[in-house]
Amino acid sequence: MILCFGGTFDPIHVGHLALARQAAATLKVPVRMVLSAWPTHRDSPSASIPERFAMLQAACAPHPELVPDDFEIRREAPSYTVDTLTALRQAQPKAALGWLIGQDSLLSLETWDRWPQVLELAHLVVLQRAGYDAPLPESLARQLAGRWLTDRCPEAPAGHVVRVTGQPPAVSSTQIRKGLMARDPVAHLLPTGVFSYIRTHRLYRGP
Ligand code: ATP
Repeated sequence: MILCFGGTFDPIHVGHLALARQAAATLKVPVRMVLSAWPTHRDSPSASIPERFAMLQAACAPHPELVPDDFEIRREAPSYTVDTLTALRQAQPKAALGWLIGQDSLLSLETWDRWPQVLELAHLVVLQRAGYDAPLPESLARQLAGRWLTDRCPEAPAGHVVRVTGQPPAVSSTQIRKGLMARDPVAHLLPTGVFSYIRTHRLYRGP
């Protein structure tokens, strides 16, 4: 399976790394870490695209199974997952494709642009996220019924929801940005290279 993990990574943190490494280890595949350059579902990121990509590279450097991917930077358009997967599918007509997400993203799947197409193009691979234990909305649960697998790669090219067992630490980029603004200690929430980059470039310090 070709497995991609998309994120704004503003900044990338230990929760992202734990999630991606757990999926790589369980499914025995590398993970393409796709920077969502122009995210569509949220406020503009605080750090620039080159800064976020440099932090992504620093975070992945010690982990050969995690491969930074600049596809959505090069596309120079709003970063819709469905468009990225369409391009990937054109390049790989028969391969199994996977899109890795945390449980919060699964809960809001019905708000994604052209979401049913996402499942025609790829599998969703999902890890739990602390604090997002609510059941799926009823309509979504109905539409995902019969698609579930646990801890294994599907043979089909797309259409399953693969639950990967694991507990990434409870942390968010928002919490880190707020912590940095308030000069609170956040080093333990960040990969070492990312913390150094933030300090050197004086990111997230406010006006
Ligand atoms: P922000 O606080 O800025 O919204 P974030 O921490 O949620 O950022 P994103 O880059 O928006 O991070 O998330 C990318 C993906 O990573 C999403 O699918 C999200 O579910 C997942 N994710 C992020 N943090 C965690 C975590 N601690 N545990 C599990 N999944 C996570």
